Amino acid sequence: MRKRPLGQNFLIDLNIAQNIIQLANIQPGEPVVEIGPGKGVLTQILIDQADSLTVIELDPRLSKDLQNRFGDTPSFKLIEGDAAKIDYASLGVGLNVVSNLPYYAATHIMKRLIHYRNQISSMTLMLQKEVVDRLTANPGQKEYGSLSVYVQYYCDVQRLLEIPNTAFSPKPKIDSSLIGLKPLPQPKVQVENPKLFFKLVNSAFFHKRKMLKNNLKDWEYLFRQESGQAQLAGIDLSRRGETLSLEDFANLANHVHALTAA
Ligand code: SAM
Repeated sequence: MRKRPLGQNFLIDLNIAQNIIQLANIQPGEPVVEIGPGKGVLTQILIDQADSLTVIELDPRLSKDLQNRFGDTPSFKLIEGDAAKIDYASLGVGLNVVSNLPYYAATHIMKRLIHYRNQISSMTLMLQKEVVDRLTANPGQKEYGSLSVYVQYYCDVQRLLEIPNTAFSPKPKIDSSLIGLKPLPQPKVQVENPKLFFKLVNSAFFHKRKMLKNNLKDWEYLFRQESGQAQLAGIDLSRRGETLSLEDFANLANHVHALTAA
């Protein structure tokens, strides 16, 4: 049987590794979690800086090597397991997560981390460049979509560094970017019903080229007609989802919530 690929492209550029850890800006006393340490290129820098370092590695062979190499350091703890399934609440609070994420599971793991945002003070994540383009996109940009809204709703988002594919071995086909995510104490916009908010956002982007009135069919009975135009919460529904800011989506969702919550 063919082994499941684990996104194992190892960083071989030590200057970039140093740069990533500097940009993670870990303060003394703050706990650090590294996801997918692999051959330990980031781990060996982190272990000198972090008062406590928990690493999560899925590959048993790499886990064994890491345990042999760092296991004697009292501040080091290895969890052999799937970072997409870990209960991050069990790792404490104020976590600083650092990772060169495996591409195949990157969005999934990032969403799980955001789910545990109350435990996390920062995430410094290396991701496929195209994913970072989406996470940092603003309304009107072609990369702007439901993932941009999701992440920007919960986190302050900062693009930190570009990393060429030549910095890895084996060399992946794509370039990477480093992103800093800081969970906000409160979501960016005030939303009465987050489930409804995300349902509307996902629907608004369902067919990216379609107008809102065609993507928001579930709420068509709430549309108002004004001067021959369909509107909802004062938003012209001949616009496309990609033109709406987080505030617009919040207004839309709060309006629909008020009309439908009986
Ligand atoms: N941090 C190392 C570096 O920068 O060279 C390795 C990065 S490599 C892109 C991704 C690492 O994540 C690999 O070591 C892989 O075995 C591990 N990995 C893949 N899927 C994982 C998962 N679901 N949970 C934890 N680790 C995983």
